[in-house]
Amino acid sequence: MSIRIKVIMPYFLLTLAVAIVGTYVVTRLVASSLSERLTNQLLEAGRVVSDGMARQEIKHLETARLVAYTRGVAEALSGGDAPAASALAEPVAAGLDTESLVLIDRQGQEILHLIRQADGSFQRIAVPSGISALAIVQDLLATGDPKAMPRRGIGQHPADGRYYYFTAIPVAAQFGMTGVVIVATSLDTLLPYLKSMALADVVFYGEQGQVLATTLVGQLSDGDGLAQLSIAPDAYQEALLASNMIGGENFTLQGRWYSLARSALKVGNERLGVFSTVLPLNFVLQAGSASRNTYVLIFAVAMAAVVTIGYGVSRLITVPLGQLVRTSQAITGGDLSQRTGLRSKDEIGVLAATFDEMTANLEARTAELQKTYHTLEQIDQAKSSFITLAAHELRTPLSLIKGYTEMLNQDNELDPDLATLAHGVLDGTKRMVEVVDGMLDISRIDSQTLEIAPALFNAGMLLERVRGEFARALELRSLSLNTQSLFELPPMVADPEQLYKVFYHLIMNAIKYTPDGGVITVTGRMVSDNVAAPEIEFAVQDTGIGIDPQHQEPIFEKFYQLGEVQFHSSGKTKFKGGGPGLGLSIARGVIRAHGGRIWVESPGRDDVHCPGSCFYVRIPFKAGPG
Ligand code: ADP
Repeated sequence: MSIRIKVIMPYFLLTLAVAIVGTYVVTRLVASSLSERLTNQLLEAGRVVSDGMARQEIKHLETARLVAYTRGVAEALSGGDAPAASALAEPVAAGLDTESLVLIDRQGQEILHLIRQADGSFQRIAVPSGISALAIVQDLLATGDPKAMPRRGIGQHPADGRYYYFTAIPVAAQFGMTGVVIVATSLDTLLPYLKSMALADVVFYGEQGQVLATTLVGQLSDGDGLAQLSIAPDAYQEALLASNMIGGENFTLQGRWYSLARSALKVGNERLGVFSTVLPLNFVLQAGSASRNTYVLIFAVAMAAVVTIGYGVSRLITVPLGQLVRTSQAITGGDLSQRTGLRSKDEIGVLAATFDEMTANLEARTAELQKTYHTLEQIDQAKSSFITLAAHELRTPLSLIKGYTEMLNQDNELDPDLATLAHGVLDGTKRMVEVVDGMLDISRIDSQTLEIAPALFNAGMLLERVRGEFARALELRSLSLNTQSLFELPPMVADPEQLYKVFYHLIMNAIKYTPDGGVITVTGRMVSDNVAAPEIEFAVQDTGIGIDPQHQEPIFEKFYQLGEVQFHSSGKTKFKGGGPGLGLSIARGVIRAHGGRIWVESPGRDDVHCPGSCFYVRIPFKAGPG
């Protein structure tokens, strides 16, 4: 994960979490406060409906009383003078905003029955309509009490089948009740009036819980809608007896959600039935979803801002870091001239400045080292040139000396003392020739002009040649040279003359650095496990003084030798005799030219206990043809 994402991610996740929780909480708060408001409105509407009913009742009573107390009405009723009673009552009803007026005499006969038409005029209903059978009328007539309390109720009008709210009072004369006045308002008129005051739809229920009338006008004709609005008789009874309004279940009607509250329809102390106030829920839902949308938008904007800020902040960190990374990669790639160029005062700035300083130091140090290396290279070059030159210059006179001394040596008539001297000179000369040859080998290795002439040979035979070379020295020094499993090795293809030199130097060193009586063992083996191509490995183990670990690498460099200078002229096979420091360098050059490697293993140097050294030579094995 890139550092940019690591910086932005926590910001983003945190904001997302806050956004989700925030939107949820706020929406819930808004929704619950809105639904609380809705409930309050329903309750308030319920109160207003009750007030409206009370007012309607007062209007009914006023109208009924005006009719009942109109002079002559009571008498006309008691006297059975129906036309007179009608003639007196009708103008009163017309002057008031009465929807329906009925006059009934003491015997329950309908004297007058008026119902207002849509055009405002009264329709006179042919009597009898059957309205006197209403319970409230029968009840009043049964009391016969002219001071009886008014009766009221909701019921179906026998004349037009519609539901009405009726109020009935006795008509009193001096001698008692002479009839009953009924004032009625249809629910179709009453409910819109109640709705207009309550600002909520209203539903009136019958005793079975069925809907008698509702202002949810559109649904009136819709049988299903009405059936859906109906309530169970239990719920009706519960609402009828409850002292407060009861919340009902929310419901849908023609795709809209509504909430309602039910209550007993009380007029005075009487409970005439049950009604509901109904309000659409959509304003709650809409407000809820509007607020949710608003908050989602706010949080989305906030989130975008946070991500942008996070991105900006991350850039403040990642841009310099990227610069640092690029510079360090360039430096790793070898371009030490690169600098970060960052100059800020923060931690990254300090890091970058330190890094630049380090790089500058490194560059200066590297330049110094390069200069020194160059100088050393030049010196080495000069040394190599000198060696080559010296070797070539020395070779010719040495050949002459060697030639003459050999001639002298072969002269049989020579004085014995002179013969001994000539022999000594010859030995010294051979040694010098060897040293000069070594110098020439080194100069070829350095100039990479050493030529390898591959031939098929047997390693055992090669080692026997070397043994022959050192037979006298081994005998003098009481050293034994063991060769093991060399003849069992398959014949190999390599430059036998060059490899001869390698073993020559290795065995000469083993002789030189092993005290008298020691053992030198040369072994060989094929190495074919875990290597791509088979190799052949030789080991020259001695019981000599050993080599300290810190010298085990550099002894392969030319002129590197640990021997003490005073022993140098003591002979090439003398214990700790020393030498020019070329043997191992030549051996390494030859082995490398064969594509192999040479190394030494030794526990360390100890001239007393002689832990020994073991030189390993490993070269790719090439078998002969067939
Ligand atoms: P030279 O023998 O002429 O000094 P070489 O290159 O052959 O040079 O060897 C380098 C040095 O390695 C020697 O001076 C000697 O100190 C050390 N060395 C080589 N072979 C052995 C050995 N078998 N045991 C201990 N030291 C050795």
